[in-house]
Amino acid sequence: VPPPAAAGEVHRVRALVGGAHMDGEGTFWTVDPYCQTPFAEVAQAGPRETAAAVAAARAAAAGAAASPARERAALLRRAAAAIEARSEALARTMARETGKAIRDARREVARCPATLELCAEEAVRIEGAHVPMEATDTGAGKLGVVLRFPLGVVAAITPYNAPLNLVCHKIGPALAAGNAVVLKPAVQASATVAALVEAFQAADLPDGWLNVIYGDAAGRHLVESPGIDAVSFTGSTAVGARIRAAVPLKPVVLELGGNGFTIVHHDADMEAAAGLCAANAMRLAGQSCISVQNVCVSRPVFERFAALLLTQVDRLKVGDPMDVDTDVGPVISEAAAEAITARVAAAAKTGAQILRGGGRKAALVEPTVLRLETARGPTFDEEVFGPVVNLVAYDDLCEPVSWVNGGRYGLQAGVFSGSLAVGMSLARALRVGGVILNGSSTWRSDQAPYGGVKDSGSGREGPRYAIRDMTEERFIVINH
Ligand code: NAD
Repeated sequence: VPPPAAAGEVHRVRALVGGAHMDGEGTFWTVDPYCQTPFAEVAQAGPRETAAAVAAARAAAAGAAASPARERAALLRRAAAAIEARSEALARTMARETGKAIRDARREVARCPATLELCAEEAVRIEGAHVPMEATDTGAGKLGVVLRFPLGVVAAITPYNAPLNLVCHKIGPALAAGNAVVLKPAVQASATVAALVEAFQAADLPDGWLNVIYGDAAGRHLVESPGIDAVSFTGSTAVGARIRAAVPLKPVVLELGGNGFTIVHHDADMEAAAGLCAANAMRLAGQSCISVQNVCVSRPVFERFAALLLTQVDRLKVGDPMDVDTDVGPVISEAAAEAITARVAAAAKTGAQILRGGGRKAALVEPTVLRLETARGPTFDEEVFGPVVNLVAYDDLCEPVSWVNGGRYGLQAGVFSGSLAVGMSLARALRVGGVILNGSSTWRSDQAPYGGVKDSGSGREGPRYAIRDMTEERFIVINH
């Protein structure tokens, strides 16, 4: 990418290693996906910079582990306040660099301090257990306890679609638990994350507790580094599988992709269901791992539901992410837009009926609604990660259950039904990480356990649950 003609909005991003900035083995540019102009020049971390970042984290790990929990909590609260103080600048940078509509960017930034506050609270609540030793002859007369200890150096790797709050969900719990971190954020959101890291630095972050490297290959170098103790990854299933294979013997948390099922039963509030499904299929231009992608609708109410959903989709404003009225901005790149529309075209070839959309202008993809006769196909089985929703009718509830459970993913599902009995029976039957009753698949609250099963990953986020995965248990027995 050539340097931008107009200066002024040029951002320069360098690695953070042991509290100091570091150049890389070259640079790359991030691109404003709406204007298609270069946005930030970023130092690409190579093997040398990655090794330096891991070494800095290793050197700091003992200090982090020994620090009092209340001081780590105070650090996280200072970081939360520093983010709050620069929230509008963060939202604007995110909207420009990733194309996220400014209203959504503001919402995401507002969640970051809340996530870190939750981490601060959990930092002082890391509990162990008492083991009842008198249960056996060998244990008689002894006291047994289980304590939790930090892992050491956590490698945190994050995606572009929620580039700030997902970073907070990694480094917040890792620091709360007393680990040092090497963060490798999404390439496309480099300047956005660099601005968040500045907020941590402004909060008197001790040198080496948080190190940050940028660039695609840096993720691979980091995972392959012998100096890391664990990996916490959020991103695609394909990359997650590569990471699992690269570090088979280290703790790995994988928050991966999904194909967002929502079931609309005939006794549901149709207006509410259609409104939420339309908004949550298209919000963030569909670039959310729990985006509403597959809506299974009870056949007797199918036509009514489809009409209500299309009315809502037609009201969405597509365009400039910096405009506060925009509902749907561009996807992350023109190449991503091309892949999405090609997938829709492939679905149409295999019988899907395009009710709305299907086209694109540069990186802006039209909100697209498809009607499928059979529950399969290129937009149904795999994650689309674009503003595309499939509608498919069912006659019996066992059909959508088999579609969800028979597929490769299992992140989150939504169910709309007026009957709690129907909702609960589906909640028990669907093999996913979370079920939202009377809501769509798209819903996350930052304190909740969040994660998937099957190809959607393993391990959980949500500060309390992430801390469990970022600490290790040690059994201690006292002979007395
Ligand atoms: P991605 O997998 O392409 O990239 C994610 C991160 O991994 C980036 O930082 C990237 O640079 C890095 N990376 C790439 N190759 C690597 C390798 N070989 N080793 C180590 N790191 C490597 O994902 P993306 O396109 O940025 O994000 C979209 C995906 O993320 C979607 O599949 C979405 O469902 C998923 N996602 C999941 C969750 C969740 O919580 N389950 C949340 C958000 C996004």
